[in-house]
Amino acid sequence: MKATYLFALFILTLTFSTLTASAQGTDAMSEGMLAPPPENAGGPPIDPAKGYLVEEVSGGLYWVTDGLFGMMFLVTGQGVIVVDAPPTIGENILKAIAEVTQEPITHVIYSHSHADHIGAAGLYPEDAVYIAQKETKTQLEEALDPGRSVPYGAFAGGGAVPLPTVTFEDDYALRVGSQLLELSYKGVNHEPGNIFIYAPAQKTLMLVDIIFPGWTPYAELAVSENVIGYFQAHEQALTYDFDVFIGGHLNRTGTRADVETQRDYMQDIQSNVLAALQSVDYAAIAQEVGFEHPWEVFRVYLDEVAQTCAEATIPDWIDTLGDVEVWTHSHCWTVSESIRID
Ligand SMILES: [Zn+2]
Repeated sequence: MKATYLFALFILTLTFSTLTASAQGTDAMSEGMLAPPPENAGGPPIDPAKGYLVEEVSGGLYWVTDGLFGMMFLVTGQGVIVVDAPPTIGENILKAIAEVTQEPITHVIYSHSHADHIGAAGLYPEDAVYIAQKETKTQLEEALDPGRSVPYGAFAGGGAVPLPTVTFEDDYALRVGSQLLELSYKGVNHEPGNIFIYAPAQKTLMLVDIIFPGWTPYAELAVSENVIGYFQAHEQALTYDFDVFIGGHLNRTGTRADVETQRDYMQDIQSNVLAALQSVDYAAIAQEVGFEHPWEVFRVYLDEVAQTCAEATIPDWIDTLGDVEVWTHSHCWTVSESIRID
């Protein structure tokens, strides 16, 4: 009896200390173990009372951010062209526009079909012209199907959006009043239909969910549907003559140097994945894990490849890009999957 009691007490103590340790570990991860973001990742302050920032880029082109998502609009003298409608900014988009012009919104451009970037477009006038690449329209038609089990944009601020009324295949020039925007589709990257939006007079390029000025991209190359297209999009962006880059996320606009920096970071990840795929020994891992659970062998192997790549990459980038410790492993994993299958 006594031995059983002591054993139970031992197990209880062990369980409790393990739980406590893992809780402390989680706190440490979120509070202390991440490197402070480099100076390069800092953006202009956002008034917490307003919850958004609107800034003129130049020549009637404005950028709006809530610190995590961003969009832009262009005042033309004959109405406002808006690009995207992130639900996190929502009604504040209309307030931001009203801060700088009384002109109505006449044109809406969707950078791509994802609800986290356009899901508040229901706020825009119904009679505006809605422009997108034709793949975006196709995907929105499917996404807005009332038979879907989960409705499109079913989260705070999101909802159904107007379907594009004008679509194009490769290139489209939108001239309104004194302003020009050049839209271009160069193939699948983040998702089919994701376009380059260029304001030549303002030397500004917008490309969403590809490049994240000052920071590592969101997980899995920002959940890119086509990894090869994602890599190519960096070079495609650099073919434009731009000074300002708008990426749709985080707290500041970018420059040409930011695009080059992310291209170099991605090339490093690719080299380090290739090296890891050469060095990590699958047979040795299989011996160690045992053959009873083949998926576990494979998981440990792929994780070892990603971990080897992350350990080689992070030290070189931690002073340049924010939060590389958070997502580099995930990028390594995605790139290694792409190398194995694409
Ligand atoms: Zn997206």
